[in-house]
Amino acid sequence: MNMKKLANALIPDGDLLSPEEYEEIYPPRNLPKGVEVTRLAPSPTGFIHLGNLYSALADERVAHTTGGVFYLRIEDTDEKRKVDGAVESVIRSLKYFGIRFDEGAEINSSLNNYGPYYQRQREKIYKSFVKKLLEEGLAYPCFCTAEELDAVRASQTKSKETTGYYGKYAKCRNLTEEEIYDNIKAGKPYVIRLKSQGSIDNKITFRDAIKGDITVTENDQDVVILKSDGIPTYHFAHAIDDHFMRTTLVIRGEEWLSSLPIHLELHKVLGFNPPKYAHTSSLMKMDGDTKRKLSKRKDPELSLDYYRQAGYYPQAVVKYLMTVLNSNFEEWTLKNPDGDYKDFKFKIDKMGKSGALFDLEKLNDVSKTEISKLSAEECYAFLKGWVDEFGSEVDKSHFKEDGYLLKILTLIIGIGGKKRRKDIERAEQGVRLFDYFFDDTFDPDYSYRFDKATVNMVLDKFAAVYDTGDDNSEWFAKVKAIAPEVGFASEMSEYKSHPENFKGSVSDVAEILRIAITGSPNSPDLCTIMRILGKSRTVARLLKGKI
Ligand code: GLU
Repeated sequence: MNMKKLANALIPDGDLLSPEEYEEIYPPRNLPKGVEVTRLAPSPTGFIHLGNLYSALADERVAHTTGGVFYLRIEDTDEKRKVDGAVESVIRSLKYFGIRFDEGAEINSSLNNYGPYYQRQREKIYKSFVKKLLEEGLAYPCFCTAEELDAVRASQTKSKETTGYYGKYAKCRNLTEEEIYDNIKAGKPYVIRLKSQGSIDNKITFRDAIKGDITVTENDQDVVILKSDGIPTYHFAHAIDDHFMRTTLVIRGEEWLSSLPIHLELHKVLGFNPPKYAHTSSLMKMDGDTKRKLSKRKDPELSLDYYRQAGYYPQAVVKYLMTVLNSNFEEWTLKNPDGDYKDFKFKIDKMGKSGALFDLEKLNDVSKTEISKLSAEECYAFLKGWVDEFGSEVDKSHFKEDGYLLKILTLIIGIGGKKRRKDIERAEQGVRLFDYFFDDTFDPDYSYRFDKATVNMVLDKFAAVYDTGDDNSEWFAKVKAIAPEVGFASEMSEYKSHPENFKGSVSDVAEILRIAITGSPNSPDLCTIMRILGKSRTVARLLKGKI
């Protein structure tokens, strides 16, 4: 059979470049040994999940700790799954978690020498290599219909044979030249298949950067490399793209491990050296007593939007994922509590070989710790960022009073004080802590423990003497002075030795004031709260708190 003629009939030369020309256009990157080039290669479906972040973090860390390159390639060969804006959403979501690409689709970079980075724009490159394989007799057209393939599969299943298109089942492998041209003339749709040179009797041992040495059976399937619409399959595009984009390490989910023999064969027939592979284990969660994979349908926490909407501190999510990625990261954080995770020596071979357990409770703990380390300004920026995107109009209006909110924050979070608040897991909880400082969200529960006359007298008296200029001791002296006037002890010691002589003590006076001002018997320092609220708001609340 004249293979050259057939290759030309199936893939006319047009403006295709030769394989050698592509080697020249995309030369090996000039990088020292040990430097890794990694990539994230999502389909533009619009759903970016925790698995993508997990993988992107590993890619980014490996590339950047070795001084290499991390790029974004869009695997858009399946037109049906494409969603507008999905690429921007991947970039935005990862940026929110502090992960940046050096190169790739929609990345403005002088390094973009290995594009186009959208697979649909790489059609000519794929075709040039399909043509080469056709010419070499390593690929052939297949005219089998879906019904024919289904029938073969059904009979293979019935006779308990391996399913697929291989060996004696690869019918179109043996078409004569005449039959092929007749089919083309008749306008029959066709795909191009690899003519596999492998045998299931052969084993290949290869080294996975995470899982270690793995022995697999050689591929013998005549897999489709070019679909009937002229678009390559994942397998073929992967081999071409990772070769010409000069990826040194492919980090991808372990669901691809079973396709590895196909990829190794494709690299071989194409004359490429395969990249190193690292197959990451799936993210799992505990469901009762059993461990299972995180599922899109059952687990909202699989979606990255979940963390933004819930107001997790992005760095906390990243730090938590680092503990899942590298078993020794947690130990490192104990030694370097204030360290930047980027200073940790991330190692791909320290990644778990099986089922990485994702535990939301642990993430919550990390989040609390990270939020408790923020300065007032950082915390303010974080909460404001969340409110801008997800807060109510009322929340947004509160953030308009810049200075006021910063003072509140400093007090509530305990910044600079002895007791730093450590229970804020997410932005929304933090934002709710300010509510009582604003009249439109002040929702008091006036449950005083004293009778109406006593409560009202305390409030009236304090409203009459309160002054924002008072320092803490002057303020306290005024609280104390009210005690005997309402039958309370002004000294705690007095009260403790003769409780029967008093209705209450000075701390009960403070409690009445606190309930009127904050709406609850528990709050941070009351004198500071009053000072932040200002005189008129404080006096108005004291009077409004009367029963
Ligand atoms: N587009 C593939 C996916 O999203 C990429 C796999 C790979 O990283 O090679 O699963």
